[in-house]
Amino acid sequence: KLENATAKAELGRASWKLLHTMMGRFPEKPSADESLALKTYIQLFARLYPCGECASHFQKLIKKYPPQTSGRNAAAGWACFVHNEVNKRLKKKEFDCNNIGDFYDCGCGDEDKKGSK
Ligand code: FAD
Repeated sequence: KLENATAKAELGRASWKLLHTMMGRFPEKPSADESLALKTYIQLFARLYPCGECASHFQKLIKKYPPQTSGRNAAAGWACFVHNEVNKRLKKKEFDCNNIGDFYDCGCGDEDKKGSK
């Protein structure tokens, strides 16, 4: 089947949005089990990502920069960093990772003890 750049980009935006929003809700002080769950999720995400070319690049990227899952800030910072690595490869603008804090709002309406996102 022919490449459809519009669909590929749409999938990318949706996927990044989910990934960054998930990081913003990851516990500040996760248990070992929660940290392992996030690490495993990211590894499987990289393996199963539907665009094969993207998946194979991203797998190399996370080998070089292993997922940081010791807490929310580390995880959000890591995801922002690897997204920027993908941005660089695709010749896109770099995102300022200092602004990541309030950018991804879950909209869930349930309590997040600290931060109320
Ligand atoms: P996106 O990169 O999708 O970003 C969406 C929004 O997120 C931006 O508008 C901005 O507000 C914000 N943002 C930007 N950078 C960051 C950051 N560093 N941290 C947090 N938020 C940020 N496409 C390809 O053509 N080839 C590939 O090999 C490829 N690999 C990919 C691998 C993965 C794992 C994913 C999830 C996507 C991949 N994509 C790939 C898709 C590509 O990254 C973009 O999603 C797509 O091109 C749409 O780009 P965009 O300019 O709309 O912004």
